[in-house]
Amino acid sequence: MGALNLEECPLKFHFIPYPAPGHMIPLCDIATLFASCGHHVTIITTPSNAQILLKSIPSHHHIRLHTVPFPSCQVGLPLAVENLASVNNVENSYKVHQATMLLQLPISQFVEQDAPDCIVADFMFLWVDELANKLRVPRLAFNGFSLFAICAMESLKTHNYESSVIKGLPQCITLNATPPKALTKFMEPLLETELKSFGLIVNNFTELDGEEYVEHYEKTTGHKAWHLGPVSLICRTTQEKADRGQTSAVSVHECLSWLNSKQPNSVLYICFGSLCHFSDKQLYEIANAIEASGHQFIWVVPEKKGQDERINGDEKWMPMGFEERNAGMIIRGWAPQVVILGHPSIGAFLTHCGWNSTVEAVSAGVPMITWPVHDEQFYNEKLITQVRGIGVEVGAEEWSIIGFMERKKLVGRDIIEKAVRRLMDGGIEADEIRHRAQEYAVKAKRAVQEGGSSHKNLMALIEDLKRWRGYKPLDS
Ligand code: UDP
Repeated sequence: MGALNLEECPLKFHFIPYPAPGHMIPLCDIATLFASCGHHVTIITTPSNAQILLKSIPSHHHIRLHTVPFPSCQVGLPLAVENLASVNNVENSYKVHQATMLLQLPISQFVEQDAPDCIVADFMFLWVDELANKLRVPRLAFNGFSLFAICAMESLKTHNYESSVIKGLPQCITLNATPPKALTKFMEPLLETELKSFGLIVNNFTELDGEEYVEHYEKTTGHKAWHLGPVSLICRTTQEKADRGQTSAVSVHECLSWLNSKQPNSVLYICFGSLCHFSDKQLYEIANAIEASGHQFIWVVPEKKGQDERINGDEKWMPMGFEERNAGMIIRGWAPQVVILGHPSIGAFLTHCGWNSTVEAVSAGVPMITWPVHDEQFYNEKLITQVRGIGVEVGAEEWSIIGFMERKKLVGRDIIEKAVRRLMDGGIEADEIRHRAQEYAVKAKRAVQEGGSSHKNLMALIEDLKRWRGYKPLDS
């Protein structure tokens, strides 16, 4: 009788997201997913991030936010700067990270007083492992990467850290750059601790990572990965999609009416995520490349890129008269990316290969022009181009540890233009790539529907967690 009641009783989850859009947006979407299945979800965050979440996650009676103070003064950050998207230099990004790591005490205290059935935490929070063990509750780890990238990182760890050739995967992969040593060192304890969790949740669908990579991961690590995505597809209305993350610098209406006036597949979308900073010289090369390609575009640039700084009549980062001469829309600040990618006039996406951006493009059937910059993006590039054939490479070869660091080498306008033309000018190669991208979009949508691979994984995971709760000793 008791066991039956427990089976029917909703699970109680505590979610602990890391304060950067690429981590926070998908993890909170996953929180929404559990809540929409009737489970009780608490997202633990800090006051400014809670303000963002209040606007961006749909109000749901099964979701509540719990805030702990952000230790701004302790690390020397201005008040309310609590997210990596709110800073624009290396020093302050380290401070945000440092302050986030100081949240261990208040978060642990809250979780201990109000123990859940499961903790779902970003893998950056190493101490959650100990906390979950202490409370004898399962911990699910989340890192926002594709499983393909994780397999590649695990493989490099086993074989040779400083190599661009990745051995031991289902395919031989040669990256366009060698992972920086400092990055692999930083990742080492995170990946190790992740493997001690109950399982890894992945914002992807099995068909895109590939069964062969899921099997490879489980065989080589003995760890379980749960593909639950693409989570951007669980967004509901156009406005809800636009409200994910920060506040948009343009209205959805303005964006959509501009896009509605364009032919299908005729607009290039350019956005390098929330953390990549390009030098003015690099932006100038991009501007020249897109102008030379002759294609229409939406280009997302940082908010501070105004028109105040000019050299010989040109803006520091844009040729004189660029905006007047070209049929393009420049968005200074945050763009409603999922809405833009979902519009039929978008023909290709020039992307830094951040995993969320990648899986959002796949979900919309948009082929990609890959320009990886930092973190695990060079791995994602290979999944997009070599493994799945849904994009072409610009040929970037400089791997930064973090996106705020400026690259030493410029990617020249000619190779950018060439890559843009490969997809946007049409032709057999472009058609084939687009066709494959559209096939993956169909698979992505199917995956999240009832009976689809991600939906089945979600149901199986919930069952596992309920079983685990049933086994828990009564005195724990
Ligand atoms: N994003 C957005 N508008 C922007 C920039 C980013 O909506 O102007 C969203 C994007 O849709 C994605 C996330 O922010 O969900 C960025 O995550 P990703 O992993 O692609 O890159 P990161 O920012 O972590 O480098």
